[in-house]
Amino acid sequence: MIKVNELSKKYNAENVIDDLSFTLESGTIYGLIGSNGSGKTTLIKCLTGIYRPDKGEVTLDNNLIYENRNAKREIAYIEDTPQHINHFTVTRMGLYYGSFYDDFSHERFLELADELSLNPKAHISNMSLGQKKKLSFALAFARNAKHIILDEPENGLDNESRLVVRKLIQDAADNGASVLISSHDLTNIEDMCDTIFMIDKGKIIYTDSIDDILENASKWLIKATDASDLDAYVLQQEDDVMTVVLLRDRVSAREYLLSKNTTIIDSLKVELIDTYMALKEVGNNE
Ligand code: ADP
Repeated sequence: MIKVNELSKKYNAENVIDDLSFTLESGTIYGLIGSNGSGKTTLIKCLTGIYRPDKGEVTLDNNLIYENRNAKREIAYIEDTPQHINHFTVTRMGLYYGSFYDDFSHERFLELADELSLNPKAHISNMSLGQKKKLSFALAFARNAKHIILDEPENGLDNESRLVVRKLIQDAADNGASVLISSHDLTNIEDMCDTIFMIDKGKIIYTDSIDDILENASKWLIKATDASDLDAYVLQQEDDVMTVVLLRDRVSAREYLLSKNTTIIDSLKVELIDTYMALKEVGNNE
């Protein structure tokens, strides 16, 4: 189990990660969501033992991860920007990468490369960003890592590869891995993850299972004279007609809206992005 305990990380005396605590359990897919600059990559670099925390700690099975080779070997990490050795071919990169990890299968790597339409003889220097990203996946999933951390995994991938990658992620979790996926694109996350950490300015503003997040929020098209009088996040407004998100389930939200003398025109399907916007607003008001 990866455990984050009161973790803070600063750049230039300013906290970019601010007193975070959470755990990543096996068999679960977590989504780390937040806008650009909210601290996702910095957090991931602490989780993967690359950055030294300024305060608090990150442990894997009770051992500190920072500067701990054994702990780091249990984690497969896919960076947003792939870092391969440019003058290698795909096959050679597999042999090189595999030499660092006991759980790497070269046979599986070649299978994955094929599934992701990568030519084993291709030179990395001639590959597109998307192809390099696919190579990162083939390398990481040719291992049997207990913990998988993916920074913006779907950036640059075509739709076909996305489906392959999603299946790899789901299979890994079904086999007991803990998976953390960071993204600023909430629609991808909504489909893949069990639990969400919403991060803003280095703090977790909300965490819950996707099902509970969506059950405890609702979206409405309403007619109201004064939006500022409502405990609601206004997504869109034209005169007195507006689309609002309430951080309440549908039944209590309906009661609340009616008690505020609004006219409900329609009940809409709430999505993760809606709750994220509403929660961010609440966080900023506090
Ligand atoms: P995200 O991955 O969510 O986009 P980052 O973790 O990359 O966020 O960045 C969080 C904040 O830290 C941003 O304000 C960014 O400008 C700042 N930051 C990131 N890396 C550095 C660095 N090496 N030196 C100084 N500031 C940094």
